[in-house]
Amino acid sequence: MTPETIRRAPKAMLHDHLDGGLRPGTIVDLAGEYGYGGLPTSDADELAAWIRRGADRKSLELYLETFAHTVGVMQERDAIVRVAAECAEDLAADGVVYAEVRYAPELSTERGLTLDEVVEANLEGFRIGMERAGAAGSPIVVRALVTAMRQAARSVEVAQCAVRWRDAGVVGFDIAGPEAGYRPTLHLDAFDYVRRENFHITIHAGESFGVPSIWEALQWCGAERLGHGVRIVDDIQVQPDGGVALGRLAAYVRDRRVPLEMCPTSNVHTGAVASVADHPIDLLRRLRYRVTVNTDNRLMSDVTLSSEFAALDEAFAIGLGEMEWLTINAMKSAFAPFDERLRIINEVVKPGYARLRSEASRVVAAGV
Ligand SMILES: [Zn+2]
Repeated sequence: MTPETIRRAPKAMLHDHLDGGLRPGTIVDLAGEYGYGGLPTSDADELAAWIRRGADRKSLELYLETFAHTVGVMQERDAIVRVAAECAEDLAADGVVYAEVRYAPELSTERGLTLDEVVEANLEGFRIGMERAGAAGSPIVVRALVTAMRQAARSVEVAQCAVRWRDAGVVGFDIAGPEAGYRPTLHLDAFDYVRRENFHITIHAGESFGVPSIWEALQWCGAERLGHGVRIVDDIQVQPDGGVALGRLAAYVRDRRVPLEMCPTSNVHTGAVASVADHPIDLLRRLRYRVTVNTDNRLMSDVTLSSEFAALDEAFAIGLGEMEWLTINAMKSAFAPFDERLRIINEVVKPGYARLRSEASRVVAAGV
C-alpha cells in the first residue's frame, strides 16, 4: 500500500487522547494567549521534538510527564474549543471517518472551569471541527469519551458528568493514568453507576500491567472494550510446533469478541513492547481477536492513524483487505448507536475500500 492509499482509505479510531494530539504551534499560541509560562521553548518544532524525546523513555510514568504542557494550556474554555476543533480537522484530513476521542475533564479545572464546562467546550470544539471538515470535503463523526484519572478520587463525579452529556456527544466512560498500583477495582463505584445507567465503559488495562488488571476490568468493572489490552498475550502460550494454547481469560476475550484498542507505536514508547515488529498485535490478529488500530497520542508519539497502518503494513504486510477488516472491527466496537455504526460501515467504509481495490486492479490491468 502506498502512503496515499492508506491516507485515502476510510479509517475508524476508538483510542485517541485529546491532550495527546495538540498541534505544536497551537500549544505555543495558547501558552502566549493565556499566560502559561511552563514551556521549555517557544519554537513549535523544538517543542515537538522535546515532547517526543520525553515520551520515548520506555516507561508509562515518564511518558505521562509530557502531558503537563498540553494540559497546561487547556485551562480555558476557548483553548479547549480550539484544541478539540483542530483535533477533528486533523483526523478528518488523515482519512479518519469515525473517531472516539477521550479526555479527562478534571485535568482542565485548575483555573476554575467545572467538569461540565470542560465537557461542553470539548463537544463544542468537535462540532466546529466536524463542520469545517465536512465543508472541506472530508466528513467525519467525532464522539467523546469522558475519562477519570485512576490515581485521583473523582471517578464517581466524572462518571456522573459523562452520563449527563450522553445525548450531546459523549458515548462512554474510561479510566486512564498510571496502571501499576491503581487497579480498575479502585473505581468500582463509578463503573457500577455507569452500568446501571446503561452507558458504556472502556478501561485502560493490560498496557503496563498484566493479566490481573484485564481480568478486573472485564469481570469486576464491566469493561466492554480494553484500552490496549496487549498483556492478554501473557495468557496465551505458543507451543514449539506453532500450536497455541489460550488460558481461560484469553479464551474469554476472544470468544466474547472483546475489542482490543491497540496502539502499537505508543506501546514501543512506553516500553510495553520492543518494536512494532515485535508487537503482539500480529499474533492477536492472526488468532482473530477483535483487534483495532489506534494512535493513543499523536503528538507524543509523532504518529497519525495512517502512519500506524503504514507501520503495520511494513512489519506484517497487512494489505488493504486486512486494513478494511481492522476498520470494520473498530466500527463494530464503537459506542455510537447501532444504526449510525451500520450507516458508516455500509455507506462509507465498504464503498471506500471497494473503490481503492478497483483502482488498484485497473493499475495492474494497465500494466502500470
Ligand atoms: Zn490511552
